[in-house]
Amino acid sequence: MEVTLLEATPDPERVVCTAARNDYLSEYVGDISFEEAMDGIEGETLEDKQRTLIGHLMDHGHFGPFEHPQATFAIKGVSRSCMAQITRHRHVSFDIQSMRYVSFDDVDPADVEEGAMVVTPPSATDPDWIGRNQSSGAVDEETVAERERVFRESVRESVESYQELLDLGMPPEDARFVLPIGTEVNIVMSLNARMLMHVADMRAAADSQWEIREMTESILDLAAEWCPITFEHYEKHMKGRKNRLAP
Ligand SMILES: Cc1cc2nc3c(=O)[nH]c(=O)nc-3n(C[C@H](O)[C@H](O)[C@H](O)COP(=O)(O)OP(=O)(O)OC[C@H]3O[C@@H](n4cnc5c(N)ncnc54)[C@H](O)[C@@H]3O)c2cc1C
Repeated sequence: MEVTLLEATPDPERVVCTAARNDYLSEYVGDISFEEAMDGIEGETLEDKQRTLIGHLMDHGHFGPFEHPQATFAIKGVSRSCMAQITRHRHVSFDIQSMRYVSFDDVDPADVEEGAMVVTPPSATDPDWIGRNQSSGAVDEETVAERERVFRESVRESVESYQELLDLGMPPEDARFVLPIGTEVNIVMSLNARMLMHVADMRAAADSQWEIREMTESILDLAAEWCPITFEHYEKHMKGRKNRLAP
């Protein structure tokens, strides 16, 4: 999996603070400087003042201002299972790589067996891996070796059948029905900073599924560079709480 920040609102925390100050000022924020808008907020420097205001907004559940900055991420090589989970979030905009227009006719099934095209879950190769909702715990080496064999053979055979159907003239939109849910997909998604926190509340949680959690953690790392005060506060004071989009 790979996650890249494609585009994002420049100076997002200035936008958040300006929007929040709009709510409490008699002056019109379009007519005054950012320094003037932040006048009266505790802090020596402008950055200190932004830190104070953003911390206050987040602690009091005043999340509206965080809806203004928006970021677009590209995500490479997650499973269609992960895609099904992330696309449940209705305030996120998505573009999903098509299986009607992109066919996997040039992939070598032998490479699929080695890990290409289909995501290999850790429990297929790691005897100590314990997933969520798993009735059993760790297993011995022999059992995991058998799991890995079954998994790898199965994905290889699926891709072989898929390519055979393509060769028989079946359109990719129908031949894809035999592909596994672990088949990789590329996604572009856009969301605002508030929604990003909501997705993180639900998908970076300890009990969420490993793949979407890994993806969300990568998104959070990029968000921390894009919107540092906000996501530092989120990481320190809010992450791991019960999800709470509304105050
Ligand atoms: C651990 C885990 C397990 C899950 N298991 C399943 C499962 O087995 N089956 C399944 O179907 N789903 C499952 N889900 C998905 C889950 O039920 C949600 O559909 C998904 O996480 C989207 O989140 P959300 O409901 O917060 O909505 P979002 O679309 O992210 O919307 C954000 C918020 O906006 C508000 N909102 C948006 N739309 C509406 C609306 N129409 N009406 C009222 N309020 C709205 C809500 O406050 C909502 O929390 C699971 C999620 C997790 C994290």
